[in-house]
Amino acid sequence: MEDDYETLQAQDGRQAMDILTQNPGALSAVMLDLLMPVMDGYEVITAMREDSTLSAIPVIVTTANTASDAEVKALSLGANDFITKPYQSAVIRHRLANTINLRETAAFVNSVEKDTLTGIYNKEFFLSKAQNLIKNGEAGQYDIICSDIERFKLVNELFGEDTGDDLLKYIAQYYTVVIGKEGVCGRIGSDKFACILPHREDYTPEEFEGYSDAIDAYLPALRIKLRFGVYKRAESSVSAATICDRALTAANSIRGKYGEHFAYYDENLDRALKTEQLILESMNDAVVNEEFLIYYQPKYSLETRRIIGAEALVRWQHPKNGLISPGDFIPLFEKSGFITDLDRYVWERVLSDMSRWQLEGKRPLPISVNMSRADIYDPFLTATLTDLTKKYSVPPSLFHLEITESAYMQDSFQLIQVVSELKALGFPIEMDDFGNGYSSLNMLSELPLNILKLDSGFIRNQTADAKKEQILSVILSLAEKMGLPVVAEGVETTFQEESLKKMGCPYAQGYLYAKPMPGEEFERFIDGARGGEGSEVI
Ligand code: C2E
Ligand code: CA
Ligand code: CA
Repeated sequence: MEDDYETLQAQDGRQAMDILTQNPGALSAVMLDLLMPVMDGYEVITAMREDSTLSAIPVIVTTANTASDAEVKALSLGANDFITKPYQSAVIRHRLANTINLRETAAFVNSVEKDTLTGIYNKEFFLSKAQNLIKNGEAGQYDIICSDIERFKLVNELFGEDTGDDLLKYIAQYYTVVIGKEGVCGRIGSDKFACILPHREDYTPEEFEGYSDAIDAYLPALRIKLRFGVYKRAESSVSAATICDRALTAANSIRGKYGEHFAYYDENLDRALKTEQLILESMNDAVVNEEFLIYYQPKYSLETRRIIGAEALVRWQHPKNGLISPGDFIPLFEKSGFITDLDRYVWERVLSDMSRWQLEGKRPLPISVNMSRADIYDPFLTATLTDLTKKYSVPPSLFHLEITESAYMQDSFQLIQVVSELKALGFPIEMDDFGNGYSSLNMLSELPLNILKLDSGFIRNQTADAKKEQILSVILSLAEKMGLPVVAEGVETTFQEESLKKMGCPYAQGYLYAKPMPGEEFERFIDGARGGEGSEVI
């Protein structure tokens, strides 16, 4: 024995445990006598198996006792092999070599399969295991659920990487317990986990909220939220890696959405995300290539049916996707921060149009442009607007700014500040989308407004909703008392026009009068209006 292996000898069980705990990583195997003083062999096996650093060391039990119940007891406590005395040293050598080899192979396989931090399957192994399950099972028999931790980077930055690591271990443990024997879990990215489970038709928001809350309970100060993405009925035609990507994409689609914890992957989502990607990739070129067009939609006096001004609305003439309406790209630009560049571009184009009309001797009409919330936070906003209006010699009084009501809800102080400055510089302020869910009547007295634009939601379905009509009438009379002119948006029918008139609404904008139109068309339109019914200005 001594020729092949380095051996350490102990007189009794207690001494054996001391040697073991002093050299935990260095020992390949233990040959254990069952009958020993102080601490017998059974106790040593039990103690070893309870100690996480010693539990993997193989134990070969040796004893003169030939009774099979001793063998059974030792094996059931976790011994790996059993040799009865008297024994031949050649047999022992082989059995020892086999046992050590087996254990080392297992450790190696483990290290290949398992994620070193969390101890659950690593990405490669999870994916191959999932792939096998999908391939060998019936079609659509499995679902894959992936999760992502919101703001995980922040946890690392604020609480340290050790806390981040502990959290990941905790999640791995939680998954193992919750998924149990039902499925297989793995860690497929720094803070991303995946599980493959038998297919279920429905998942409830409550269960995912429950998982997220359970993990948040680990350390409530971290305010952990998990997003889950569910890919139902995994098919072998799509690789497990792609399925996980898609489930994570679904999880990502609810990023920052309060109260939402999970989303299903489906083709609509895929299409929407691809379009989103395309839009974000092509937005910078779009400015250079002048793909953004300005449309104008006139605003009318209800009493005289004359044009009183117009709103500039942006369109995107995309080389591949055709004309895209702002509803499809403005929210993306707002998220990416590009919106301030676009708005600046739109303002400049509008001012350049206005200055040309001025030179052509057209009657000056106020044009309003839209402002985003991000513009309100731009420290150069007032400078930009004054510089631009000077550059094109357009009086600020003709350049109206439409500000949406939601900006007030986000940060009323900042908005009041900025709006007051803009108004002092002579820019008339229009409150856009008034009454669109965020209504605060406070805002009307706190903000120095010039015009109120009623959200089209008031006018739409107005006949069916008596309460809406009542609110509308209250708003109109309040605005009148405050000396605030009101423009009703989205007027499409003469019925709507009539009832607005009856309630004393002075101005309107909508398809009933004119749709948004390209600049050249708008020019002809106002020329015609000048020659015909004429225009007036608010
Ligand atoms: P908004 O400011 O409320 O603009 C009015 C929207 O209602 C426009 O949609 C207009 O085409 C539409 N509309 C006008 N009359 C009617 C009608 O009678 N019926 C119906 N169903 N719709 C009508 P559009 O042009 O698609 O613009 C959508 C939104 O995009 C705008 O809503 C505005 O919030 C934003 N937006 C447009 N251009 C710009 C811009 O240059 N900058 C920024 N920041 N936002 C813009
Ligand atoms: Ca507007
Ligand atoms: Ca509006």
